[in-house]
Amino acid sequence: MDIDEFKKSAHEFIDWIVEYYKNIETYPVKSQVKPHEIFNKLPDNPPMQAENIEKIFSDFQNIIIPGITHWQSPNFFAYFPANSSYPSLLAEMLTQAIGAQCMKWETSPSAAELEEKVMNWMRGMIGLPDFFTGVIQDTASTSTLTAILSAREKFSNYKINQSGFKDFINLRVYCSTETHSSIEKAVKIAGIGKDNLVKIDVDDDYKMNVTQLKYYIEKDLQKDYKPMCVVVALGTTGSTAIDPLKEIAELCKKYNIWLHVDAAFAGSALLLPEYRWMIEGIEQVDSFVFNPHKWLFTNFDCSAYFVRDKNALINSFEILPEYLKTRPDKEVNNYCDWGIPLGRRFRALKLWFVIRSFGVNGLQEKLRYHISLAKELEEKIRNEKDFEILAPRTLNLICFRYKPEGINSPTEHDKLNEKLLHKINDTGKIYISHTKLNGTYTLRFVIAQTNVTREHVTNAWELIKNVSKEI
Ligand SMILES: *Cc1c(COP(=O)(O)O)cnc(C)c1O
Repeated sequence: MDIDEFKKSAHEFIDWIVEYYKNIETYPVKSQVKPHEIFNKLPDNPPMQAENIEKIFSDFQNIIIPGITHWQSPNFFAYFPANSSYPSLLAEMLTQAIGAQCMKWETSPSAAELEEKVMNWMRGMIGLPDFFTGVIQDTASTSTLTAILSAREKFSNYKINQSGFKDFINLRVYCSTETHSSIEKAVKIAGIGKDNLVKIDVDDDYKMNVTQLKYYIEKDLQKDYKPMCVVVALGTTGSTAIDPLKEIAELCKKYNIWLHVDAAFAGSALLLPEYRWMIEGIEQVDSFVFNPHKWLFTNFDCSAYFVRDKNALINSFEILPEYLKTRPDKEVNNYCDWGIPLGRRFRALKLWFVIRSFGVNGLQEKLRYHISLAKELEEKIRNEKDFEILAPRTLNLICFRYKPEGINSPTEHDKLNEKLLHKINDTGKIYISHTKLNGTYTLRFVIAQTNVTREHVTNAWELIKNVSKEI
């Protein structure tokens, strides 16, 4: 392909993208294909001869698109969103065009310095104290792994990196039973062992029970275990419960334990001063992660990771073979030393575009709008006699279920709601997901998609009620 063909196709693709967004509601939100259907439509061998871009693009439309779940549809209410926005998409186009690999300052100074600047902006925007330093990671899972590895290294005075675990067995990490699976994954990868991840029970509202946390930490200390890290969930994945940070922070201070905060989804709400109560106790926090790629209109992937002691991070990860030495190393941020991968995408650009294009006020307005829509829907569900709310609503996630009169067994309720979920999603009109809270099958409805409006939510609710009458 030469540059003229590129230009022609690029214009066509933009036209397609514009039409895609205009018509996104006509696609089934959740892809309706069966397992292996896409795979079987693709040839077993690659083409030996060059194929033209029209043919490839046409296969993209005919084969690939049917197997896409449309996360940017305003009728997407499942999981947590991976929302995007036009300014973010435009920035990603430029990022891909430049195609820079931004591992070190010298490999693209703008990438490193823009990242430093937008992360400083972001720190202020979400109300973190100035002693935090930010770096962009790919995902919250990576950020949490980074935190646990840093905690491990700081705890061992960097000896585990040097000589392995011989003097450091029985390190302990604590989190609630409702925290995200990425914590367990990180503990396993970090060599600490799943058995040393202590899962603390939650109270009725799904927040970590601090009395039990204190009890386990003190018991572990007596038994010669080594409490090393506590992970607090600000916004659990099941129900966006907010663990009591302040009380946990006091415990961590008392016992000198690394405190990591996983605010992957709910962190965006910190842009709103009325939600800053969630980070009371932040002065004691060692590391903090939230995902602009979830609820801040920035394309996946973009995870904002903040640390108190950036040296603990760099000392854990820095590695300097000859071929990576550069002249300005001592004066600049080389972000390959601030995390796991060497190679890095230029992710700061899209965040910069989003923040500038919306403005902080514009972002706040959208977040508040989503929360207000969730509040309205929650009211409606409460007032519907055959439905019930299953967890307190903190932000814009509603946990509920169908509970018609005359059915009284818990297993029947679970089966009924599972059936309802599939029937709703099979309409292709909306997409919602589920979890289990306290063993109960729970429907999750998240209002956070960039272009969602009251009308979408109202229609979705009508659909849910109608489908419930059919089962
Ligand atoms: C989504 C989520 C994660 C994982 O996020 P990734 O960026 O996909 O790794 C972690 N923790 C919580 C609370 C989440 O909601």
